[in-house]
Amino acid sequence: MGEKKMSKLEEKARTWLTERGVTVDDMADLVYYLQSKYHDDLSLDECIYNVERVISKREVQNAILTGIQLDILAEKGMLESPLQDTIEADEGLYGVDEIIALSIVNVYGSIGFTNYGFIDKQKPGILGKLNDKSNGCHTFLDDIVGAIAAAASSRLAHSEENEEV
Ligand code: MG
Repeated sequence: MGEKKMSKLEEKARTWLTERGVTVDDMADLVYYLQSKYHDDLSLDECIYNVERVISKREVQNAILTGIQLDILAEKGMLESPLQDTIEADEGLYGVDEIIALSIVNVYGSIGFTNYGFIDKQKPGILGKLNDKSNGCHTFLDDIVGAIAAAASSRLAHSEENEEV
């Protein structure tokens, strides 16, 4: 299987994740946090591989770009009221950030939901940093990152039973 050239969409999604302070390693750490107790000898490389596979999906890239775009606009005060205040304040009842995240969780089936709910409550690692409101608006990004980790965890779980997903 030859290496496929990375699309503009994927390049942009990866660049934005990095620029917003999230690395593949950060997300792999979350996968390890979620899955190490269920898999003997789980390696960080395996976690990285599964995160990479999730990010290579177009629907995931679209969710990343949409969410980060809204975070950036809110940070700059460029949205219209009342959405500006809602997103800037990360209001708990808004919920659209979670809906976008679920479009990522969905990619590998329903195991992802449990993982997403769990990690969203615990907020380990990078999720704790993103939730600290002193370093920018990450209303969408925190959910997206949690969802990528949850989807990568499901992928890992499924790939133990099946061939490539
Ligand atoms: Mg959020």
